[in-house]
Amino acid sequence: MNNAEINPIILEKALKISDTIGSTLCTRCWGRIFSQDIEGTNNQERGEYIKQILMEKTCENDNLNNDYCYICDNIFQFVENGIMNDIKNNILDSKVEFSTFLVGCRIPAEIIRKQEYLYSKLDSEPESIKKEINREIGKFLCLEMGNKVDFDNPNLVIMVDFKTNMTLNLELQLNPLFVEGRYRKLIRGIPQTKWPCRKCKGKGCEYCNYTGKLYMESVEELISPLIIKEAHGIESKFHGAGREDIDVRMLGNGRPFVVEVKEPQKRTLNLTELGKKINLYNAGKVEVSDLKLVGKERRSQIKTSSTSTYKVYRAIVDLDKEVSNDNLKILNSLDVIEQRTPLRVSHRRADLIRKRRVRDLKVKKLDQERLELIIECEGGLYIKELISGDEFRTKPSVTSLLQTPARCVELDVLDVQN
Ligand SMILES: [Zn+2]
Ligand SMILES: [Zn+2]
Repeated sequence: MNNAEINPIILEKALKISDTIGSTLCTRCWGRIFSQDIEGTNNQERGEYIKQILMEKTCENDNLNNDYCYICDNIFQFVENGIMNDIKNNILDSKVEFSTFLVGCRIPAEIIRKQEYLYSKLDSEPESIKKEINREIGKFLCLEMGNKVDFDNPNLVIMVDFKTNMTLNLELQLNPLFVEGRYRKLIRGIPQTKWPCRKCKGKGCEYCNYTGKLYMESVEELISPLIIKEAHGIESKFHGAGREDIDVRMLGNGRPFVVEVKEPQKRTLNLTELGKKINLYNAGKVEVSDLKLVGKERRSQIKTSSTSTYKVYRAIVDLDKEVSNDNLKILNSLDVIEQRTPLRVSHRRADLIRKRRVRDLKVKKLDQERLELIIECEGGLYIKELISGDEFRTKPSVTSLLQTPARCVELDVLDVQN
C-alpha cells in the first residue's frame, strides 16, 4: 500500500466516518470497516493504513493518536493482551478432550448498539466485532493447540463472555458423543429403556417402592452407565432402532442402538475393551457388539424404519384346538396384512390401519396344540396381534385362518435389518 496512490473513494469514506462519530476508533475497528475495500493481510494492517492517510489529510492527529475506541470500548486490546493465553490455559486445565471446536462470544449491548449505528451510515456492511473476535481467538487456538475449527458440529464450543467488566469469563460447552452398537436381550421381563413410575413420574413413591421406576433394570440401564463412565460424561440418552416388548427377547445379531453421552470429557474410547466390560457385567442378560463412534445424524437415522426394513421373529403359539398338518399349510397364504392399531397400544398410538407384508413364514408343530412360527415381515407389523387377530382388527390372522383362537405365548426377535 503506497501513500502516493491514495484511493479518493477510500479517503472520502474515512473522512465521512470520522465526521459521523466525531470520535476515535482503534486500529482494528478502522481496519474492519475497510476490510472489503482494501487488500491486506489483516484488519490491524488495514487500520494502520487508514489512520496514516487520515493523519496526512486532516490535522486531527490528537484524535487519531487517542487510545480509546468509541466503537469497541478497546475490547480488541483486551483480547490481544494476554487473554488468548488465559483461554488456552483454562482449556488445558479443564482436561477436556476435543479435536474440533468453535469460538463464540458475548459482548456488551452498548458496543453492539454503537456498531449498528455506525454501520447504518455506511453503504456496505462490514464484518461484526463479534465475528472478528471469534475468528482471532479461533486462529490463535488452532495454532497453539492444533485443534480444528468446525462450524457445524464441533466437539467443544468455547464461549467467551465479555459482558462483565472485561474479565475473562469462559464457558466450555461439550457437545454429546454418540456410540452406536447392537444389543441382544437374552432374558424376558426387562424393558429397553428406563421406565419411570407412572404415579410419581420418577420421584419415588410408595407404589414404586421409592425407586422411581417400574422395572428394576432395563437394557439402557445395563449398558449406558458403563459408556458414560468411560467417556467421563454426566448422563446419557438411549436411542433404539425400534423396541421389543418387555416380555420379548432380542436375539440374532441384535438391535441397533445409539447411546448419546452428554458432556463427555473424553472422546477416544477403547471400544473393544468397553464392549467386553459391558458383556462381562451383564453376562446372561444383555450383550453388545459392533460398538463404534458415530456422528449425531445416526441418532435419528437408526429410528427411521420403513417398509424396506424387515424383521424375523420366532413365536410360540398356543391353539384352542389341534389343527392338522394339512390345514396348517394355509398359514403360508399370509401376505399383505391389514392391521388396525392394536387395542393394547391404542391409548398412545394414533388409530389407523397399516398394511404390512409377511415375506416368509415357517410352521413347526411342537405339540398337539402348540406351534412354532418363524415369521419374516416388514418392520412395523405387530406379531402378537397377527397371531391373535386382535378382535378382528388384524386381518387376516393366524386365528382367522386356522379358525381357532391362537395366542402368542413366547416371542423372540431373531433379526432386525435396517
Ligand atoms: Zn475498536
Ligand atoms: Zn413411584
